[in-house]
Amino acid sequence: MIEEIITHNAEETRQFGKELAKRLQPGTLLTLSGELGAGKTTLTQGIAEGLGVPDGVTSPTFVIIIEHEGKIPLLHLDAYRLESLCFDAIRESGVPEFLDRDDAVKVVEWPQRIADFLPIADVEVSIELGEDDNNRRILLTMNGQGASV
Ligand code: ADP
Ligand code: MG
Repeated sequence: MIEEIITHNAEETRQFGKELAKRLQPGTLLTLSGELGAGKTTLTQGIAEGLGVPDGVTSPTFVIIIEHEGKIPLLHLDAYRLESLCFDAIRESGVPEFLDRDDAVKVVEWPQRIADFLPIADVEVSIELGEDDNNRRILLTMNGQGASV
């Protein structure tokens, strides 16, 4: 099932994430594709709010994986810097343990950079920049498992 929405500012994207969170279950793997500045972290902030995470979500670019406590825990992985690493280094960065977690919602920014490690995600989100600076086209694909479609 594929859905498409257009957002007109960051707040609308956060709100979309918050609504989306209601459809996510522990163990769900959600990938977020889109270029730098597309709104992947912004959408993750909305998901966090929807999951009842009290602390703020920022980009985990420098630590790769951040865990947030919530009603459902949120694991946020930013693979931006992992592409340059070899297979063994990625394995040692904690990606396999991340994928094994079935108690948390798992969000991956830049999934194509660790494509060899990732199974097909339960939820695939792709964000494209629109003609207007603040417009974003969000494509949501629900693959069924781990998310209530
Ligand atoms: P990414 O994680 O994809 O690199 P961020 O979420 O960190 O992107 O940044 C997105 C930037 O774009 C933020 O500065 C945000 O305020 C801005 N922005 C403008 N319009 C939107 C929109 N419709 N949705 C999301 N972010 C938007
Ligand atoms: Mg980001």
